[in-house]
Amino acid sequence: MRKVLIIGAGGVGQVVAHKCAQVPAVFQEIVLASRTKEKCDAIAAGISRPIKTAQVDADNVPELVALIRQERPDMVINVALPYQDLTIMDACLETGVHYLDTANYEPRDVAKFEYRWQWDYQERFAKAGLMALLGSGFDPGVTNVFTAYAAKHLLDTLHYLDIVDVNGGDHGKPFATNFNPEINIREVTAPCRHYEDGAFVETPAMSTKKTFTCPEGVGTYNIYRLYHEELESLTKHFPTLKRAQFWMSFSDNYLKHLEVLGNVGMTRIDPVIYNGVPIIPLQFLKAVLPDPGDLGKTTKGRTCIGNIMRGLKDGEERTVYIYNTCDHEACYSEVGSQAVSYTTGVPAMIGAMLMMTGVWQGKGVFNMEQLDPDPFMKALNEHGLPWAILEGTDIPWP
Ligand code: NDP
Repeated sequence: MRKVLIIGAGGVGQVVAHKCAQVPAVFQEIVLASRTKEKCDAIAAGISRPIKTAQVDADNVPELVALIRQERPDMVINVALPYQDLTIMDACLETGVHYLDTANYEPRDVAKFEYRWQWDYQERFAKAGLMALLGSGFDPGVTNVFTAYAAKHLLDTLHYLDIVDVNGGDHGKPFATNFNPEINIREVTAPCRHYEDGAFVETPAMSTKKTFTCPEGVGTYNIYRLYHEELESLTKHFPTLKRAQFWMSFSDNYLKHLEVLGNVGMTRIDPVIYNGVPIIPLQFLKAVLPDPGDLGKTTKGRTCIGNIMRGLKDGEERTVYIYNTCDHEACYSEVGSQAVSYTTGVPAMIGAMLMMTGVWQGKGVFNMEQLDPDPFMKALNEHGLPWAILEGTDIPWP
């Protein structure tokens, strides 16, 4: 019997549970565990085949070890928060099971976005004969696979990479984030870093902007350059890159709210004393903002995420754009979540499927671009995230 343990029952956990349940030949048994068991039970109730649920505090290694020993899964899919990555990796090492996540480890007190902590597990996973797959969401995740695919099939030498993440969705709320608010706001308020001529260059958050018209009528949006974790692994694994940048769309309304929240101190991640109790303003803000998991009901529009890549092919300059568009309402009717959770949860399931079936295997810690992109690209087309390629002047790059 092949069994998977999913940890985390938020927006992404809901999609992963549904998508694994759709592939019973690979995921013969599914256990969904999280801090709040009721959330796991609510997700399980919406899935047509029975899945098991459990309560676990993923900050606590002995609790995780006890759950893994009891359930004996072949692998763990971690879709809790980035803070839990290292404890879950420790528990996987102690119990001898494979590991996958969608976001790199971050310490709670400083927004760092570095792979260093998880890459440090390389030797321990390799020695134990186990595989840890890092960042199997959309970005990071599919964007790494798109890069590997272009480097394998479309370009002989990759020079320029621009990852463009547009969420053309409208949830109808005055202000909400479309994945975990604490993680999202830490990411977008951090200083921007992009890679140029062999080094990362730091610029103020949101200081570089372009207007991007998405293909397939998704719309025209303002995109802002920001740091994103896949830039670190991609520039390491594709050393021919001269420049690598990441862009994300934000509405004027979102940015205005964020500016005000920042100005009044609500996005701080250091503790302040309130009524004698230390609280983290950003964590308090999360508690009063809409739950991203509930946005699916009202979100309309599409996401459009892809890579624009320029380099050489047969001695000639060539530019390619590989992208996916995903409809919020279609995702909601399939799995009860909006497209941001869907575009993260489907690649997590696909990464796990390739590991469970031995199509992707290895000993140690891997980023997505280190593995053969072809089976992953094929699975994207089969499991709800079809992609397309534009070339040359058809690419809408401003
Ligand atoms: P949510 O906040 O909706 O869900 C997180 C879940 O993790 C909740 O169920 C929460 O439990 C649970 N959790 C938190 N702490 C613990 C703990 N100590 N022990 C057990 N469970 C815990 O987040 P999302 O679903 O939006 O995001 C999940 C992950 O996906 C995040 O790491 C995020 O960074 C990543 N992500 C990756 C993307 C990509 O493309 N690569 C894009 C979007 C997200 P409770 O319900 O009790 O709070």
